[in-house]
Amino acid sequence: MKKILSLAFISLFAVILLAACGSKGSNGEASKESKKDTLAAIKDNDKIVFGVKTDTRLFGLKNPSSGEIEGFDIDIAKQIAKDILGDEKKAEFKEVTSKTRIPMLQNGDIDAIVATMTITEERKKEVDFSDVYFEAGQSLLVKKGSKIKSVEDLGKGSKVLAVKGSTSSQNIREKAPEASVLEFENYAEAFTALKSGQGDALTTDNAILYGMADENKNYQLTGEPFTDEPYGIAVKKGQSALAKEINASLKKMKSDGRYDDIYKKWIKEDPAE
Ligand code: GLU
Repeated sequence: MKKILSLAFISLFAVILLAACGSKGSNGEASKESKKDTLAAIKDNDKIVFGVKTDTRLFGLKNPSSGEIEGFDIDIAKQIAKDILGDEKKAEFKEVTSKTRIPMLQNGDIDAIVATMTITEERKKEVDFSDVYFEAGQSLLVKKGSKIKSVEDLGKGSKVLAVKGSTSSQNIREKAPEASVLEFENYAEAFTALKSGQGDALTTDNAILYGMADENKNYQLTGEPFTDEPYGIAVKKGQSALAKEINASLKKMKSDGRYDDIYKKWIKEDPAE
């Protein structure tokens, strides 16, 4: 019995050792990869690949007739490319959703995320953020005439629609613990679900909901925003050279008026001081 046990231990040890060797190889490469300077790679490739939303009116929306993605986040990303590489055309865009953006950054599919992304302590464990470039707050979108006037009205039996991987989906469980939350892959799907009566309200940042209310006049925002959602641009953890350049670019576009122009173009008001 003892013999069998020790044999089992030896083979288990061998398996662990082999696995460790195997992962050492790939980890070795992976850690080399993450240590690689993204800013240097951006300069070598002469382009920056940004992860952006493509279904979010006002921030990142694909224009079906031109095929171009347009919005506040897109214009900010273009100006960053202009400041870092001298030409806004050197910004390349890849579609992300709230759920896929961090994994795509970790995989090296994108260099930075500019996608309505709130800076949170939890996310800071996984990625590094730039300075705040937009201030939003979570709110509710309902059909005009709805009985839901604020988050307090989302009691037992009410259904709220949200998007996977968003802070909104987490926050609403705290703010309306009695309501059930239905999660979708992206905002286009969530809004379609609201329109087809699958829920009483859709919850996300007011800035995103304004875009939906703008698209369909039968829907409106209701109640006051109930969270703070400061947006930041995310880079891979430890990519401080890139983060520094992004912050320098944000500062520059705020001081030379480009930021205000972008803000007025999409948000239709002056940025708050
Ligand atoms: N700003 C919130 C977040 O980062 C909601 C918008 C989104 O899903 O991107 O989760």
